[in-house]
Amino acid sequence: MQNKCYNTDCTGWLRRFREDHHYLECGLDDIWLRNVLVHRCTDCKGVWVDIPRLAQVHQSIAVGLLYKDSLTPQEKTFLVKYFSDSA
Ligand SMILES: [Zn+2]
Repeated sequence: MQNKCYNTDCTGWLRRFREDHHYLECGLDDIWLRNVLVHRCTDCKGVWVDIPRLAQVHQSIAVGLLYKDSLTPQEKTFLVKYFSDSA
């Protein structure tokens, strides 16, 4: 079953794919999510990604960063945001 595009100005349809997603939205350069559901519009080329259990994904990233010897500015920003959001 196809869904209409989420872009209200578009009359296109969404096609679903399973693929790895470079999760740049989290603010880090090297996070990939494996085998997530991606919706791509056939018309406007819009892309929407389903990220299940997002809180657990962010927790896993945060825990991984805590084990690093040094952090990049982007990683520090991620941790500050993570702990301020979860406080
Ligand atoms: Zn569209």
